Amino acid sequence: MAKYDFLIVGAGLYGAVFAREALDAGRRVLVIDRRKHIGGNAYTEETEGIQVHKYGAHIFHTSDKKVWEYVNRFADFNNFILSPVAVYKDEVYNLPFNMNTFSKLWKIRTPEEAKQIIASQIGEAGITEPANLEEQALMMVGRDIYEKLIKGYTRKQWGRECSELPAFIIRRLPVRFEYDNNYFNDRYQGIPIGGYTAMIEKMLAGAELELKTDFLAGRERYEALADRIVYSGMIDEYFGYSFGELEYRGLEFETSVLDMENYQGNAVVNYTEYEIPYTRIIEHKHFELKCRGNERLPKTVITKEYPHSWKKGDEPYYPVNDEKNNALYKRYRELAGKEGRVIFGGRLGAYRYLDMDKVIEMAMKDCREALYRKLLH
Ligand code: UDP
Repeated sequence: MAKYDFLIVGAGLYGAVFAREALDAGRRVLVIDRRKHIGGNAYTEETEGIQVHKYGAHIFHTSDKKVWEYVNRFADFNNFILSPVAVYKDEVYNLPFNMNTFSKLWKIRTPEEAKQIIASQIGEAGITEPANLEEQALMMVGRDIYEKLIKGYTRKQWGRECSELPAFIIRRLPVRFEYDNNYFNDRYQGIPIGGYTAMIEKMLAGAELELKTDFLAGRERYEALADRIVYSGMIDEYFGYSFGELEYRGLEFETSVLDMENYQGNAVVNYTEYEIPYTRIIEHKHFELKCRGNERLPKTVITKEYPHSWKKGDEPYYPVNDEKNNALYKRYRELAGKEGRVIFGGRLGAYRYLDMDKVIEMAMKDCREALYRKLLH
């Protein structure tokens, strides 16, 4: 009999939720991660009294009451609502695209006026079935907004032209004919008070944990330790890149501590011109402002986010879900289906951009199925 029921590779949100569910069902769990900390890309670390999102900003949002209640077991959430602003050539616009954006851009006031302008710009573009991100964006908001707030930003973010990107990337942005700057349409939203690391640590309570541990480097030994393996790393790496490499977009974070209380007055400011090399600046204390009153802290921490092309060995951030990569992923998925006792999950296992609530749902479902399967055997 193996020492553990589950060996979970990856102590990010997927691995932590899977571990929690398995532990609560009385299973023996070992969680390993090659990084020196838990939390995956949601990892936060305190600097100058501020929780810093070390691998990019994470804002929790969901419309699923069960998921919301679930995360609230492990943390208290504040009332943060993401309302980014976009800077284009020293002009400031509200995001997502809403009446505040339209009125500033076109000096108009009513939804009717905004709809008319957008409709006439869509008419000029003459698109009916959007075949790529450019056409999708033009159909959603017209040419002015596309040129000022989408084109340069997207090209920087993805390293290719909007006309060469899949349309679905931009569809996750709401377009509203209301004066409402909430970036998300979900019913519940917030940031865990005290940071994501503390929340994920609570999820992992009771699990055995080994950090700085590379599964692939000690594969045989780890495989022998458990009945089943839950793998949340890169699926192509697991299979030794046998069909070739999946592509990701890389990110570099440049973080500085500034000797001032308030640098930009908002958690997220996007820079939409192509010529500015970073896509956005995060000012971490604003994620916490509303619950901690920490605007009075004398210092602030900011992070500039630079997208770059990815090569093997870099941290994988955004999967590049074009046709070529999706087809390659499908082949790996078929291989994965044949690995009877390995469960592949999370953002890297699914090779898909996933919001945190979707990661939680996936982990809960995968664990439920694994436990049920065990019962059947
Ligand atoms: N986007 C844009 N301008 C912006 C913000 C976003 O054109 O100011 C587009 C861009 O194509 C990006 C996509 O919307 O890839 C999704 O942006 P989101 O902010 O959801 O990206 P995330 O924060 O999840 O990385």
